[in-house]
Formats: sequence, C-alpha cells, structure tokens
Amino acid sequence: MDTIPNREPFIQPLHPDWYRPYVAALDMLRLDVVHPVVSGNKWYKLKHNLQHAIEEGYKSVLTFGGAYSNHLVAAAAAAKQYGLRSIGIVRGTYAQKSITPTLQDCVAYGMELQFVSREEYAMKEEGDYLLQLSQQFDLPYIIPEGGANENGRIGCEEIASFIDDKYTHICLAVGTGTSFCGVANALPADTSVYGYAPMKGGDYLNEIIDIYLEADKRANKKIYADWHFGGFGKWTDELIGFMNEFYRTNEIPLDMVYTGKMMAGIQQQLQQQVFPADARILCIHTGGLQGNVSIQQSLIY
Ligand SMILES: *Cc1c(COP(=O)(O)O)cnc(C)c1O
Repeated sequence: MDTIPNREPFIQPLHPDWYRPYVAALDMLRLDVVHPVVSGNKWYKLKHNLQHAIEEGYKSVLTFGGAYSNHLVAAAAAAKQYGLRSIGIVRGTYAQKSITPTLQDCVAYGMELQFVSREEYAMKEEGDYLLQLSQQFDLPYIIPEGGANENGRIGCEEIASFIDDKYTHICLAVGTGTSFCGVANALPADTSVYGYAPMKGGDYLNEIIDIYLEADKRANKKIYADWHFGGFGKWTDELIGFMNEFYRTNEIPLDMVYTGKMMAGIQQQLQQQVFPADARILCIHTGGLQGNVSIQQSLIY
C-alpha cells in the first residue's frame, strides 16, 4: 500500500472565467491528492487519533460508518499503515447482503466489519454500548463516527498551515464540522470561514461554532445549508452537470457528496455577491472522490 501522504497538498488557482468579475481571486487547496482512499480531511482527522492510539499502547482501532462512508475506508487504510488492527461497525444489516465498493475496500485493507441494525447503531455514543464493544473486540481504541473528537479537531489544525494570510475567506464542506472547527481555530480570528452542509436541515451545525471554536474565533464563521440537492448522498442531474462543467473549466474532479455541492453553492453566492469584490477566497478540496463510483458513467472524469 502507498504511504500517506503519497503527495503533498498544493494550492491550485481556478480558471479566472469561473470567478470573475465577482471576486479578486479564487483558489483551491487540493487535499484530495494526499491519497486515493485516505483522502482530504480524513487523513488529518485520523492521524492524531492513530498516533495517540499507538502511544497509549492500543493494538486495534474501532470506528463507525455507513456503507458509503469515506471515514470508514480511510480508517481501514490508515490503521493498516500504522500496523493496527481495525474494526468497523456498519450501520444497517441490509448492507451485508450486497456489500458496497466502499465496504469491499474496507475489507481489502483488513478491516473486520460488524453490521448492526439502525437502532443499535444509534447507540454509538452511549457509554454502556461502547463498553460492550470494547470488551467484545479486546479493548480497541474507539474513534467516533466521522473522526469527530478532540484529536480529530487538533489534527485538522494542520490544514491551516497550508493557508497563507492573503486569503480573506476560507470555504469547506462540513459533515460533522470537525474539520471546520480545527481549521477555524488555527486561522487568524478575522478570517471568514464558511462551511457548506450537504444534508437537509444542516443549519443546526451552526451550533458547533459556539461549542468548539475558541471564544475570540467565532466572528465571521458561518455554515450554509441551502445546497443539499435533496439530502445527504443524494444528487440531481443539475449537480452532475455542474461537476462536469467545473471539471471542463478547472480540470479539478469534485465528489458528489460534499465538494460538488459546496462549489455549486459558491457559484451561486458569487453571482449573488455574497463575497465582497476584493475577496480572496480559498476553497478546500476535502477529497471523497472514491464515493463517485456509483455515478462514474455520468462523469467526464
Ligand atoms: C468527511 C468529509 C467531509 C466532512 O468532514 P467533517 O470534518 O466531518 O465536517 C467533507 N468533505 C469530504 C470529501 C468528506 O469525505
């Protein structure tokens, strides 16, 4: 297996046709190039967790995800690189019947999968349930769904080290908001950080700003939830058309769950002049391209 990162992140300017005349600059931080599977933000959320697990003497890690989870497959691959055994608790016993390409990759990286009902999965943060799993699997280090913990947020602070202070606005997709918080906490307080939620009703994520951001970092931070295209993991022909058009103009592949929706939202915000004309925007490509397999035949990349 490739080592992680197998390529260092870099900043790629978008084609001026894409953002002119609305703002001064719009670039993309390509975290997706870090690894084909442990891509984008997942590597940063996991890195600190796995290092911590090793320092504490754990031999295995256990984590949670759905049948299409970028986090689960990233955890499987990263654990393998660190020489840790991995266990994945998968939401939905139906998933066992026709195992998805994502889960096949998990197994290929040596992850042991346990399929549980939605009811059981819903207990994934309850102490008693975690204790039971811990005993069943011989005391693994447990990482919450999406790598959403303190070590995940700390790991994401490293993403800010690729961002220089010429940027006035940083944009990134949010799921749990772990990456958003890590990045926002590590940037200067006056930098605007905008999150884009890909699920219906994602407005609730604005709560994390008050919970996890340092008090002096809460200004100019906002999570938008208008571009879910029907809900988490759902897509429309319009979205796919947008992703193909974006690739034609910028030669950057987007994923359909997170980054495609974010860039579609940003395009609309540019036209609505949400950003001042002198804004210098950096969008973060958080990866997730492995999740495009189900729409591969509709994409030009
Ligand atoms: C997981 C994921 C996110 C969400 O990250 P959080 O830290 O949970 O907010 C964003 N983009 C991509 C491509 C992802 O795979």
